[in-house]
Amino acid sequence: MKKYHLFTPGPTMVPGDVALAGAKDMIHHRTDQFKEIYVKCAEMLQELFVTKQRVLVLLGSGTAAMEGVVDAIVAPGEKMITFNGGKFGERWGKIGRQLGCDVHEVKYGWDDFASVDKLEKAIGECPDAVAVFTQLNETASGIKNPVRALGEVAHKHGMLIVVDGISGLTAMPCPMDEWELDVVMTGSQKGLMLPPGLAFIAQSDSAWEKVDGHKTRLFYNDLRAQRKSDGKDTHAWTSGVSLYQQLKVALEMILNEGLENVQHRCHIQGEAVRSAAKALGFSLLNEKSPGDVLTPILLPENVKAGEVAKYCRGHWGIYFAAGQDDYKDRITRIGHLGYQDHFETIMAVAAFEMAMKHFGVDIELGKGVKVAQEILMKDLEERY
Ligand SMILES: *Cc1c(COP(=O)(O)O)cnc(C)c1O
Repeated sequence: MKKYHLFTPGPTMVPGDVALAGAKDMIHHRTDQFKEIYVKCAEMLQELFVTKQRVLVLLGSGTAAMEGVVDAIVAPGEKMITFNGGKFGERWGKIGRQLGCDVHEVKYGWDDFASVDKLEKAIGECPDAVAVFTQLNETASGIKNPVRALGEVAHKHGMLIVVDGISGLTAMPCPMDEWELDVVMTGSQKGLMLPPGLAFIAQSDSAWEKVDGHKTRLFYNDLRAQRKSDGKDTHAWTSGVSLYQQLKVALEMILNEGLENVQHRCHIQGEAVRSAAKALGFSLLNEKSPGDVLTPILLPENVKAGEVAKYCRGHWGIYFAAGQDDYKDRITRIGHLGYQDHFETIMAVAAFEMAMKHFGVDIELGKGVKVAQEILMKDLEERY
C-alpha cells in the first residue's frame, strides 16, 4: 500500500473538504447563487493579499496572470526590466519578448537573488523602463527576493514593481499595500491548496493608470475585461465554477488558521528541512536568501535528483521535485507549503535520508530527522 504524498512546490496536496466542495452539483455562473460565492471569495482574497484593491481571478494556471499583467502594463516597444535567476524569472523575459516589449534582462546564478544593487545597475543601463518584474520566491531555486526594497528603488525612478507570488504568496509574507507593491499575483495549486486552474492578480491604482494608455494584445486574458466584469461581481467569460466552490472552502481554512500562522508553519517547516539537510552534511542552493516555499538540497555528483525522485515516488508515493535546466539532476526540492503538517515534514526528511542511504551517500539515518523533530518541538513549546 502506498499513499500519495506531494512535497512538490506545486501542485500541493488538496484537503478533503476542498476536494469535496468541487464535487457539488454544477450551478450556473450568471446567477445570484454564484454571485454570493464570488463576493465572499473577493473579500477573502483581499485579506489574503492584504490589500484594498480588488483581486481578479483568471481561469488558467499562474502563467495566465503573468501574461495578463505584461500585456496590461507594458505597451509594445516599451522597456521592462526583468530579473532572471531561475526558470520563472526567465519566463518574464519570454512573455515580454513574445508581446513585443523591449526586455532588459538581469541574469545571474540560481544561487543568487534579485538585489537592490542589481536593480540600481539595471536602471542605470535602462532608465526609461516602465516596470520591474521579479518573483517573491523563485521556485526553481527556493530563493526569496527582497521585493519591498526593490519596489522602493523602482518607485524612486518612476517604475512600477510587479511581483510574481505564485509560489510565495500564502507561504511567505507579502502585504501588498503596506509594501507598496504595484502588482501581485498567485496561482491556485501552490500555497492555496487547490487544484491547478485559477490565477489571481491585484494591481495598485498606479498600475491601473498605466493600463489605459495602450491597446491590449490579448483577448481571453485581457485584464481590462476582467476588471469591467469584476465591477459587476462576475467574470468576463464562463467562471471556473467548481474551482470557485473549492476556493471558498480553501480561503476559509487559511483565514481560520490565520495567515500569519500559516506563514509561521511554512517557515518553521522550512527551518526544520534546511537544518536537517545541513546536519546530514548537505549544502543548499538557496543559502544566500532562503525562502520558505521549498528547500533545494544539493546532491553529491554521483547521485541524480531524477533518480531520487523516481525512487521515492515508486517505493513510497513520496513526491519530491528534481531541479530544472542546469540543476536538473543536481538538486532535490522538498516543498513545505500548502496542506502540510509537521509530521509530513518529518516524513519528508526521513524519506530523503533513506533515499540517500539507498544511493550510497554516507549519512547517518535519523540524524536529520532528530534535528527536524527538535526544531518542530521547540516551536510547539514556545508557542503553546
Ligand atoms: C508555479 C510557478 C509559476 C507558473 O505557474 P503555472 O501555474 O505553472 O502557470 C510561475 N512563477 C512561479 C514563481 C511559480 O512557482
